[in-house]
Amino acid sequence: SPIELEPFMSKTVELMESEAVRKDIGITMKVEPGLYVEADEDRLRQIVMNLLSNGINYTPEGGVVSILVEPVLLPWMEGMNEEDVDYEHIRIMITDTGIGIPKKDLPRVFERFYRVDKARSRSSGGTGLGLSIVKHLVELHRGSIELDSNVGIGSTFTIELPVLQQ
Ligand code: ATP
Ligand code: MG
Repeated sequence: SPIELEPFMSKTVELMESEAVRKDIGITMKVEPGLYVEADEDRLRQIVMNLLSNGINYTPEGGVVSILVEPVLLPWMEGMNEEDVDYEHIRIMITDTGIGIPKKDLPRVFERFYRVDKARSRSSGGTGLGLSIVKHLVELHRGSIELDSNVGIGSTFTIELPVLQQ
């Protein structure tokens, strides 16, 4: 069923707020109003919460996790009148100012039980399943997920989901 993304994201961020406050991490959100996506609400919430939770876990105190939600515009749509623009995918980007992931580990972090550095991630007490579940749930919605990261600077996870399921 269609989910309106602005209120959905606000509610989801609220669920993570106390975890972020405990670590003095700010969560910022920019969601274009009026965007909808056809998805399973519980599964979409699980996707976003897993990424937010990683962002908070792997970012030092005082950092920021930000969320951007926008339509995926094709080049020929740029500059068109708003009422003429039609989009088939939405993009959800979750960026943190955290420890980052070494380039050699980037392709592996979506594998089950894979954790970059056992020593550094021991304190967070995870299982290494979060991202494999996220990838699976994104693919159930016929979407894609990409990761860009720089050690010591931060990480960005970009999800694109088709607006309509069939
Ligand atoms: P959990 O099952 O509780 O989520 P986890 O967080 O260790 O445990 P994943 O979410 O699958 O497992 O992440 C896999 C690994 O990728 C993490 O252990 C961590 O090393 C790395 N990682 C994931 N997200 C980030 C991030 N935002 N910044 C830096 N490293 C990350
Ligand atoms: Mg995790």
